[in-house]
Amino acid sequence: MSNLTQIVHAPNGVTYRQPTGLFINNQWVASSSGRKLASINPATEEEITSVYAATAEDADKAVRAARAAFEGEEWWSVVGTARGRLMLKLADMIENQQHVLATIEAMDNGKPYSQALGDIEEVFSVFRYYGGWADKSYGQTIETTRAKFTYTVREPIGVCGQIIPWNYPLGMAAWKLGPALACGNTVIIKAAEQTPLSILYFANILVEAGFPPGVVNIINGRGSEAGSALVQHPEVDKVAFTGSTATGKQIMRMASDTMKDITLETGGKSPLVIFDDAQIPNAIKWAHYGVMGNMGQICTATSRIFVHENIYDTFVKGLQEYTAKIQVIGSPFEAKTYQGPQVSKAQMEKILEYGQVARTEGARIVSGGKIADARPNGKGFYVEPTIVCDVQPHMRVYKEEIFGPFAVLVKFSTEAEVIKQSNATDYGLAAAVCTSDISRAHRVASQLKSGMIWINASNNSDFRVPFGGVKQSGIGRELGQAGLDAYSQLKSVHLNLQLTEQV
Ligand code: ADP
Repeated sequence: MSNLTQIVHAPNGVTYRQPTGLFINNQWVASSSGRKLASINPATEEEITSVYAATAEDADKAVRAARAAFEGEEWWSVVGTARGRLMLKLADMIENQQHVLATIEAMDNGKPYSQALGDIEEVFSVFRYYGGWADKSYGQTIETTRAKFTYTVREPIGVCGQIIPWNYPLGMAAWKLGPALACGNTVIIKAAEQTPLSILYFANILVEAGFPPGVVNIINGRGSEAGSALVQHPEVDKVAFTGSTATGKQIMRMASDTMKDITLETGGKSPLVIFDDAQIPNAIKWAHYGVMGNMGQICTATSRIFVHENIYDTFVKGLQEYTAKIQVIGSPFEAKTYQGPQVSKAQMEKILEYGQVARTEGARIVSGGKIADARPNGKGFYVEPTIVCDVQPHMRVYKEEIFGPFAVLVKFSTEAEVIKQSNATDYGLAAAVCTSDISRAHRVASQLKSGMIWINASNNSDFRVPFGGVKQSGIGRELGQAGLDAYSQLKSVHLNLQLTEQV
């Protein structure tokens, strides 16, 4: 076996070939330094394999490949309809391989296999969706004067650097690749250090689907090395990033040197407001899903739950019982598992530390706040689902993004007060409201300062609908038709109709 592929035996009996190199120009190569990063199975704490980590030199090679592909005849001559066909073929191939892709995702990230399968379904759906858009890129004709014919055309931006987080590895890659390819760009993706495996496996599917060399290049590597080299590279025209707000700010600063186009999807501490006229079982279900789903590793997690004082005690008890009933902790490959491990030891420790912080600050922990007793074989980065009550706005658990199964409950009494509290944050990614009063639902939705609002639900996003935040939760939108705006630019053409015959 070449040193750029390794046979992996997954815990569910799936055996497959895992690429471990850098994918540049449709070829697998080792990194220039020869250094590798280990990929750990967070459920067992064992190394699955190690993959080459790109240096700045490797990032440069990937950018050159993407630039050559963008300028070259081969990709340029692929018109929208043909690009769409390639993407639909890619979607079919991903669907055919969903079992192995979901296995890799569950093993590398720790999410339950059934959830990983749902993620992969979204991946091929997103490629299909954007495949359909690929030949529906319209400009305008604009009436100006009789002497001119004026129109706009939509063009690709060029070479796009896409930096992916670890919570939905292939999902986040699809959100960025789908619109980028539909619009005719070329791409370099940098996978997250913790979860490179599914994206590397996906690279071989791209080749099989028929994407020309250099159109999509995939590198793994450290953010501070490969990621920052990509962001600063003068030949990169656009940077798209999903990750923490702190890294997003760094990226924005780095991208400013060559004034790159930029899309950022960063952190959040999203509120869920539950009024006393809400249907309580429905509110409990969504409050739970909104912060406990995907082990709470969701940027849009509704992690600040405001509950009206009239129903507060009933709600707390209900949420506690519901969580205890359905949040079964176990191996990602057990069918009954709702909660797998956190992605890494560092993430687990961060969450456990917030449990400590909540105690010290005087909040009331009604469940969890410690390492999970139910860890299979006493191993893995598992935490107890945590519910913290009587939280006050000055507390760190109220203000900071925890990124774990950690619900923070706050009591409120009036609509005006809860809107003010919900908005008193630097973040503005998402918000949710539960009420049976339709006027109130829309009134509150219009007053909450965030990019997305759910009414009587939480975190049931859809790839056909724009996704993104305001304030320090991001810039620009992904998904839906709006996602195309992030990967195309307008050119205005002025045609002079009144040619002067003699000068
Ligand atoms: P987290 O703290 O949750 O790991 P990050 O925002 O640091 O989130 O990471 C998200 C992605 O950003 C990863 O692919 C990571 O490698 C990358 N990254 C981290 N730091 C930088 C950086 N300075 N420049 C470019 N990419 C970075």
